[in-house]
Amino acid sequence: MKKTILLTLLSGAMAFQVSGQTYKGHVESMSDQIEQKVVSYRRHFHQNPELSNREFKTSEFVAEKLKSLGLEVKTGVAKTGVVAILKGGKPGPVVALRADMDGLPVPERAPLEFASKVKSEYNGQEVPVMHACGHDTHMAMLLGAAEILTSMRKDIKGTIKFIFQPAEEGAPRGEEGGAKLMIKEGVLENPKVDAIFGIHINAQTEVGKIKYRPEGTMAAVDILNITVKGRQSHGAYPWLGVDPIVVSSQIIMGLQTIVSRQIDLTNQGAVVTIGSLHSGVRSNIIPEEAKMEGTIRTLDANMQNSIHERITRTATNIAESAGATAVVDIHREYPITFNDKELTEKTVPSLVKAAGKDNVSLTKAVTGAEDFSFFQEKVPGVFVFVGGMPKGKNVLETGAHHTPDFFIDESGMKTGVKAYCFMALDYMDAKK
Ligand SMILES: [Zn+2]
Ligand SMILES: [Zn+2]
Repeated sequence: MKKTILLTLLSGAMAFQVSGQTYKGHVESMSDQIEQKVVSYRRHFHQNPELSNREFKTSEFVAEKLKSLGLEVKTGVAKTGVVAILKGGKPGPVVALRADMDGLPVPERAPLEFASKVKSEYNGQEVPVMHACGHDTHMAMLLGAAEILTSMRKDIKGTIKFIFQPAEEGAPRGEEGGAKLMIKEGVLENPKVDAIFGIHINAQTEVGKIKYRPEGTMAAVDILNITVKGRQSHGAYPWLGVDPIVVSSQIIMGLQTIVSRQIDLTNQGAVVTIGSLHSGVRSNIIPEEAKMEGTIRTLDANMQNSIHERITRTATNIAESAGATAVVDIHREYPITFNDKELTEKTVPSLVKAAGKDNVSLTKAVTGAEDFSFFQEKVPGVFVFVGGMPKGKNVLETGAHHTPDFFIDESGMKTGVKAYCFMALDYMDAKK
């Protein structure tokens, strides 16, 4: 706590000036000035949502706005991504700010003037499309921050990379995409990024508030597949076969004891869910095989590895005890969204600058996932949540993310614009 206060004081004392005022004052007055513009960007994106890896028009709009600021802009990164570089007037580190761009196959139900009526194709099916996760607000806020930061160009001590990332929600079947593909295409190189910051709007956090968490913030996602092989027999003579359905049931019950009995839950939470189980064709045949599929969510790398080992041990040994076999396959889909501890500590004063001391608080970990985690595997990064819930509303009466009633109060975006600016500026100021 002491350290936090000291950092706030120091960064206040060292802060550079922009046209006679501290950069805090400049960011504040400009974020007021451009608030309506940011809202209009958001409405444009909201009315014209595009699915993952199909953000063609979105990408054009973003690139055009960034070019009009006089930034060096690269398009077609990871298919539809846009990257802009702002070289400050003074030497210093390279900071990346990230916003994601994709909508979801969800019909919009909110009675908004600018509600989406867009339809598109997803995995061969016609679907309605909506910005049902708020990525429209992320792009609008980052365009706003880019305008503010560009206006301070000659005083900036370092380089800022604006990363507009496609396909956060996952690429369509058989395609690559998202943060992983951007990294593969070198987004963190030339110039090499020293730190990255990301924001997610949150429909269940009141406008004006920011929530954050050091270390494990959103979960890793691993996909679990187990194939149980028994021996087929007539349903009337089970002793002649090995029943993979009964063995699978035992395995599923065994898996329940991993999180509840074997893992130190005071450290972090974890989830093991079996979401599908398939076997057999009719009542009087004991089949040869059963297949199940599940998801594993973890917030700590050691726990993640330990849970993987325990799942394999539990499934194979239970199968063996029955004379069956179980083949376990675990595929790592998304890493943990892991906020670097030291960087998070240093970022808190920036969040306080953006929202005020009483509006910044710790949040619980989330068992959902974010592909921002791929960036954090490569460079220290911080990912925070900015409020989009109307004041005085209750979390239970607001539409959740990924649902037709998802709703964001646009007045929350100004806090996000400022947070983007201060996270970048304070980092560069401290490193000069
Ligand atoms: Zn989402
Ligand atoms: Zn999202």
